[in-house]
Amino acid sequence: MGILDRLIHDLQKKIIEGSNLHQFLESIDQFCRISLPTLISTGLSKTYSEALLLKIANFLVGKYQYKNYHEYLISSPYALIIDPANGCPLHCPGCLHNATFQNKIGPDWPNGLLAKDTYTYFIEKFGPYASTILFFNWGEPLLNKFTPTFIRQAKQFLLHTSLSSNLSVRFDAEDLVNSGLDYMVLSIDGATPQTYRQYRQGGNFNLVIENVRKLVSAKKKSGKTTPWLCWHFLLFEHNKHEVQLAKTMANDLGVDAIKFSLPYDVIWQRNIQIAQNVKENKYTFNDNARANTTDEPNISKLFSTIFRQKWSDKLNNVEKGLYDKRSGNTCQWLYSTIVMDALGRYFPCCYVPRRKAGFTYIFSKQDLQNDDYLTSPFNSEYYRFSRKHFAWISELKKQKGFAPILEHQKHATYCVACPNKKIKPLISDFDLKYFLKKIDRTRIMSNELIDIISGWSL
Ligand code: SF4
Ligand code: SF4
Repeated sequence: MGILDRLIHDLQKKIIEGSNLHQFLESIDQFCRISLPTLISTGLSKTYSEALLLKIANFLVGKYQYKNYHEYLISSPYALIIDPANGCPLHCPGCLHNATFQNKIGPDWPNGLLAKDTYTYFIEKFGPYASTILFFNWGEPLLNKFTPTFIRQAKQFLLHTSLSSNLSVRFDAEDLVNSGLDYMVLSIDGATPQTYRQYRQGGNFNLVIENVRKLVSAKKKSGKTTPWLCWHFLLFEHNKHEVQLAKTMANDLGVDAIKFSLPYDVIWQRNIQIAQNVKENKYTFNDNARANTTDEPNISKLFSTIFRQKWSDKLNNVEKGLYDKRSGNTCQWLYSTIVMDALGRYFPCCYVPRRKAGFTYIFSKQDLQNDDYLTSPFNSEYYRFSRKHFAWISELKKQKGFAPILEHQKHATYCVACPNKKIKPLISDFDLKYFLKKIDRTRIMSNELIDIISGWSL
């Protein structure tokens, strides 16, 4: 049994049985206070111990608030998604950079690069509490020359960092490898230039393969096992005959794994057909690499300042009466994740914002002057509307006539119309488990405890 087990079991019991929020937050404060010297006694530094406890406390408070459908959140998102660049030189048929997609969907997606101060605000605000950051959503991250710098900053907050690239761009492979990036998806849907360019339209296959070689060589040169390189190959009718060839190439090139997946249907592009009669599969060539990273983290001193703030004190600043709304269903994205594009616009999930939708997709715009958690992007008017919508929907339906519903929908966010309310967030319980095991350097948590902390299912 790990040394935190009893304390966390008690907190989990409170979440399941339901307890008064103030008492729950006091228990979280007590948990942090008691656990800190215990963690330090295992050999962890004070700042590292504070960082670890802050993230565990945030998971637990977030889970409590999710289970109770709270509108205002004291917890912070555990998953961060950010686009270093709104733009891409390719125009794949399933993506907003494709002309047919643009005509059909009308995305609201102006081009731009993420500025350093916009990112610094974001990472200092959310990084201390979070577990994972993805540097990709709807753009090519390596278009921004500061992306390795952004990754370095994220590593100071003890975050697991991932990036997905089409690799059809020129970039400094050594700088990227040395940034501390943990996981990298290489999006290459073909093993020859002829098949590759049918979906990755505008891409340069030879440049892509040259970049894979540079990444593998930069890893060897630095002696690093990360970033763990995973070739992602989307299976279409036009490329399914190259599965074996791609697998051989991936092994020869020295990437760590190759994954063959079925894409979602691109119905408006008749010449692009999802592969029939093939199975999704993954082949791992170097399984240990991900677990064996030996980097010593350069942890931000911000942790110590934030750790001293009591969770129960935050409650005093929040309006009374906004806590115990509970009915209907809710969406885990609204409690777990925040998404920001390169222009500093915040979204609740990875949906494409649209120009003529009749609903709000953009939940907030970064405001570098406003800096308390009540006005935080994660508690913006639209976030609160969406959470309240799910908490109140059964009550609303009981009311007579359409008037209350119409009034409610005047300020509606896309969540009201969303067809996928129950989809799981991109960062799954499995990813959280992986993260907790990785940062638990002195094995203070048992596997059972890690399952408890990372399990968010209602
Ligand atoms: S490479 Fe990625 S971001 Fe670029 S067009 Fe294709 S799917 Fe979109
Ligand atoms: S309800 Fe739909 S639109 Fe709203 S956050 Fe969840 S997945 Fe996104």
